[in-house]
Amino acid sequence: MKDQSHEALTAKDYLSDVHPIWCPGCGHFFILRALAKALAWLRIPNEQIAVVSGIGCSSRIPAYLNTYGFHGLHGRALPLAAGLKTSRPDMHVIVAGGDGDGYSIGGNHFLHACRRNMDMTYIVMDNEVYGMTKGQPSPTTEPDWEAKLAPHGTGIRTFNPLGIALASGASFIARGFAGDQNGLTKLIVDAIEHKGFSLVEVKSPCVTFRPEEKEWQKTMRRMNIEPTADVIEAAQRIHGSDGLDTGIFYRAEHAVYQPGTSEEKSMADLEKEFEV
Ligand code: SF4
Ligand code: MG
Repeated sequence: MKDQSHEALTAKDYLSDVHPIWCPGCGHFFILRALAKALAWLRIPNEQIAVVSGIGCSSRIPAYLNTYGFHGLHGRALPLAAGLKTSRPDMHVIVAGGDGDGYSIGGNHFLHACRRNMDMTYIVMDNEVYGMTKGQPSPTTEPDWEAKLAPHGTGIRTFNPLGIALASGASFIARGFAGDQNGLTKLIVDAIEHKGFSLVEVKSPCVTFRPEEKEWQKTMRRMNIEPTADVIEAAQRIHGSDGLDTGIFYRAEHAVYQPGTSEEKSMADLEKEFEV
């Protein structure tokens, strides 16, 4: 970790020396940049941040940041982050990953992370495809998307992350777009500042397996409305959206879950407790 004893912080201070191996033009580059800018804006000390991920192209992100990081198992980033937050409530915990990792393999954890409402931010880099494993349909892929690995489409309706987050009890629900750098940076700032579980679902084009997603640059749009704390209104906004609106759909104060950590136990104590 670089020395951070200087005063003025920029996005660069939060980027590591590791060069991303994402395909040129991949949306994830812009999310990485927006996250680094958000951290600089908030002036959070590097050593107070932990970025936890699962598996997939997007889940490589901890390596590219000059913070603590953990590249975990497929779909398991959220429980890993919950464990980290339990033992280190002082840390800013940011979880990042893709649509396949978070909504399919990790779908169950997603529901309970929303419900539990621990104070952490979950950034889902959603490109509606499994990119790293070469283009299989993911939970957010539309049913009629025809690809080499899905010649007639899946015929299965898409997963609605925002609606499911709302139904499961998340207290901050937003959608961003990788191509809207300022808008996305602001959303991430708001999400990190929010007390509780904040979901930022970010549309991020996979230029290799879904080149048509480059069109999002023309079609994604900002919602110019204030966030609501009313569940019914939020549900109407989420279900009334064609999926191209960005902004905060719901923000409310829910009780934040933080298990007590008062009882310090040594490894020897724990081993004894679990002895059979
Ligand atoms: Fe990005 Fe797709 Fe390339 Fe993965 S395969 S790095 S998601 S463009
Ligand atoms: Mg994906």
